[in-house]
Amino acid sequence: MKKISILGSTGSVGTQALETVDFLGNVRVTGLCANSNTKLLERQIRKYRPAVAAVKDEKAALALKAAVADTATKVVGGEDGICQAACADGAEAVLTSVVGISGLAPTLAAIESGRDIFLANKETLVAAGELVMKSASRKGVKIIPVDSEHSAVFQCINGQAGSVKRIILTASGGAFFGRTKSELENVTVAEAISHPNWSMGKKITVDSSTLMNKGLEVIEAHHLFGVPYDDIEVVIHRESIIHSMVEFTDNSILAQMGLPDMRLPIHYAICYPERVPSAVQRLDFKALTSLTFFQPDVKTFPLLALAQKAGRLGGTAPTALNSANEAAVALFLSGKIRFLEIAEIVEKALSSHKPIINPSLKDIIETDRNIRCEILKEESK
Ligand code: MG
Repeated sequence: MKKISILGSTGSVGTQALETVDFLGNVRVTGLCANSNTKLLERQIRKYRPAVAAVKDEKAALALKAAVADTATKVVGGEDGICQAACADGAEAVLTSVVGISGLAPTLAAIESGRDIFLANKETLVAAGELVMKSASRKGVKIIPVDSEHSAVFQCINGQAGSVKRIILTASGGAFFGRTKSELENVTVAEAISHPNWSMGKKITVDSSTLMNKGLEVIEAHHLFGVPYDDIEVVIHRESIIHSMVEFTDNSILAQMGLPDMRLPIHYAICYPERVPSAVQRLDFKALTSLTFFQPDVKTFPLLALAQKAGRLGGTAPTALNSANEAAVALFLSGKIRFLEIAEIVEKALSSHKPIINPSLKDIIETDRNIRCEILKEESK
């Protein structure tokens, strides 16, 4: 039995991870953690009987504790509780699928206690990539990507990191591919959160529609694979069949393909380094008409280029970029700003931020707080 804990178990990746656990049958879930959906978390506790379950909100944790008092699961609240759930009952690995920079503290806690990380929380690497990778290497902890593109790159590299020449990340182009700026002026939240290929959470689906998701993934790839920004390329691939590619020193390119189904990278991370049958459907080439490729339109979708710029600046520049984006997307989702304002807010925050080089955890947390405060202050004017 492999023991894992799942942070963000009620979200899109979390629920698909539990489906994968059901399918595999040889994985024990020792810890579960949710942000706010305690109804679903209660059902998960009854089914998977984890040693520890955590809810971020302390009040909600108390209510849940009472609701599952008849089980052996210990229910805890707050940041501390999340870290306890991550390391519960000898978990060997932690799937981090919480959304946003809130995944940073529990990811670092899990690394410090020697747990491998199945990383679905890209914001953690964007905001604090150097810190996280350094602490993982110091602890001898493996970070196995669950982001589909990075899982693809990881599978293609397969032990030949020294021969990588270029990483080619594919992007679906999101909900608004091919539109002009004026056609984006009045797009709605409902339109932005309807992705053509992937079924994902709201925040990442909006990021996909602005191309910020790909920008965050460029920074994630830089940290995960130690490849310079000049050697990470983005290509739009509408069909989402090729999940990403790696070019090697001999100019040979390997691609990883499959139907767009998040259960495949989740399954691969849990079973790594073995390949065993999965619940994912097979790709039928007779059903494919063509695979297409386009250059990203960074004039209309400036956030991709802005993320690349923040990555090159380094230090806390990507932290600022990420925090501004998280704040702006939350404002968009709650109907307070228009779609095009997301990029404007991020651009402004990044241009007024003075990056701290080699930041400490404290620098990162402070940068995050300051950027968010600034944006909320502007918004309430
Ligand atoms: Mg991805």
